[in-house]
Amino acid sequence: MRAACFTESGKPFEIREIADPEPGPGEVVLAVKGCGICGSDLHVTELKGAVPHGAVMGHEFAGEIVAVGKGAKGQGGPWREGDRVCTMPGISCGTCRRCVNGDVMGCANLRMTGFGDIGGGYAEYALGIDRMTFRLPENLSSSDGATVEPLAVGLHAVDVAGVRSGEDVLIVGAGPVGLACAIWAKILGAREVVVSDYAAHRRDMALAYGATAAIDPAKEELGPTFEKITGHAPMLAFECVGRPDIVQELALIVDRGAKILSAGMCMTTDNFRPVIFGAKELTIQFVSYYTHQNYQLTVDMLAAERVDPLPMITDRITLDALPAAFEALRTPSTECKVIVQP
Ligand SMILES: [Zn+2]
Ligand SMILES: [Zn+2]
Repeated sequence: MRAACFTESGKPFEIREIADPEPGPGEVVLAVKGCGICGSDLHVTELKGAVPHGAVMGHEFAGEIVAVGKGAKGQGGPWREGDRVCTMPGISCGTCRRCVNGDVMGCANLRMTGFGDIGGGYAEYALGIDRMTFRLPENLSSSDGATVEPLAVGLHAVDVAGVRSGEDVLIVGAGPVGLACAIWAKILGAREVVVSDYAAHRRDMALAYGATAAIDPAKEELGPTFEKITGHAPMLAFECVGRPDIVQELALIVDRGAKILSAGMCMTTDNFRPVIFGAKELTIQFVSYYTHQNYQLTVDMLAAERVDPLPMITDRITLDALPAAFEALRTPSTECKVIVQP
């Protein structure tokens, strides 16, 4: 098959011919129809030695089943060739306490897809494991199925944060994670969902995704503007940017006793002054990925058309266009979710 392979930091992916994946017991192989480019992929390729040479990245993918391994049971009936599915990006043990509880991404024996262990979705074919593979609803195309993953990231963040009905939330950063947090915060009953982003097109997208107000931090001060909108300082704030200093910035503007939820996955050392957290008795919570239940609920809400994945997708590209497009995304532009369609 053809795949975009990582070589080394600072160099674009190379399109290479590599072996097709073979399904092991309980595994399925899908023809990738859509794979989202994730900000984490961009960041991790900048860290020297973090991704092995030759790795096929891409962990936000969906497609059609082409091969079924022994013992793979299916979902609501056995898998057949051509079944349209999305799959969680990893192979967990399936038997440990965390796996049984649905925290499959927390499995101590998880082999992650798209970061070197198992080939990801920047390829014609990719592997999934039966019990982490989900049927796509009729109303969601196989390529748009790639949005299940980033939407589940937002659901998990909002779930862990414990958004309560009537609560006003602040979301900093309107990339895919921030947008996903906005839509779920609204569904879970938040009153004001205030999103801040420097880019006008991202603020517009946030408003299309359930935000009730959007702040341009270049023109308006975050804390006072939030207070003007809601009547109080934030008690719950989401960091969805993944750059240093934002947690500290939020600590300065949130109310006493507030919670800061960091979903941005900053990969460098961050600085914040614990004394501010202490003086205001703040809680900080970090999250990554999602549970099996988060993933299934995302599929179900897409099926019920209570979540629209389309506003998030700004670009669709071929596998051949991926190496150049991936490098171009390192400089902020008008893209939000870019879907590779191999
Ligand atoms: Zn991701
Ligand atoms: Zn496990």
